[in-house]
Amino acid sequence: MSEKHISQEQVTGGLPTSYMGRRFLHHAITTSTMDGARQEALNNCAEGTAVFAEQQTKGRGRLKREWLTPPGNIAVSIILYPPKSYLPNLIMLSSLSVKKAIEAVTGLACQLKWPNDVLIKGKKVCGILIETKTQIDKVDYAIIGIGINCNLHIEKHAAIQGIATSLMDELHQPVDRTALLRQLFIEMENLYTVGLKGAAIFPEWRDSLCTLGQPVSARNGDEVFEGIAEAVQEDGSLMIRMKDGDLMRFTFGDVTLRG
Ligand code: ATP
Repeated sequence: MSEKHISQEQVTGGLPTSYMGRRFLHHAITTSTMDGARQEALNNCAEGTAVFAEQQTKGRGRLKREWLTPPGNIAVSIILYPPKSYLPNLIMLSSLSVKKAIEAVTGLACQLKWPNDVLIKGKKVCGILIETKTQIDKVDYAIIGIGINCNLHIEKHAAIQGIATSLMDELHQPVDRTALLRQLFIEMENLYTVGLKGAAIFPEWRDSLCTLGQPVSARNGDEVFEGIAEAVQEDGSLMIRMKDGDLMRFTFGDVTLRG
């Protein structure tokens, strides 16, 4: 499908945010928007700068797994400079912002799979990657990388058939990527601003998780832990009740979860 490129002017024109997405760098094709964003962050770019690509040739998920970004989708990396105490909230901020933006623009209901995959009817519509550079007492930068399957025919991509979906596949019509990006910046700025003032986004994130109460297996390297996902803690970690009755805590970086 040939898809018109996003226009920088249409994304930022009249955008009602004060910093999120206001500086919008558009690439027709790039390796990964994380690469461009890292460079921007190292040059102390404005907070909320967004690096967008129509297509990525080396899109990555966590643990260097491949993330497919053919044309017609959203690949965007957003640079923030949060205080160190805010870091555990980044996974909640990013996944909740995507969920809210998709729901507002398309009317489709989203669920979150711990810690930050966004699903529609159990299939992944968005992957999120967070990269931070920190010092003992401060954060140099945080980059939130977001890949949303928008106008993608999943059936044309054997590698992700059965596990992924796209907004177009769900809606049976193309989605307006410009509207979705603008809404994403609005939702993210709202949540980030109230979060910095101390309002907890944890309860809303916890209540959006479809993982709790489900049997899960958590893989950490070669080790696999099986049990029931029982709860999440305010730092975002997941508590799994093992078959022997023990309660184990897993942090975001540790595991890959299979439902
Ligand atoms: P986790 O949920 O622990 O982050 P994950 O397996 O979902 O693990 P990610 O790192 O988020 O992995 O994303 C990479 C994986 O997502 C790939 O291994 C592939 O299975 C799948 N994938 C790749 N491209 C897409 C896409 N466009 N849409 C949905 N899924 C994709």
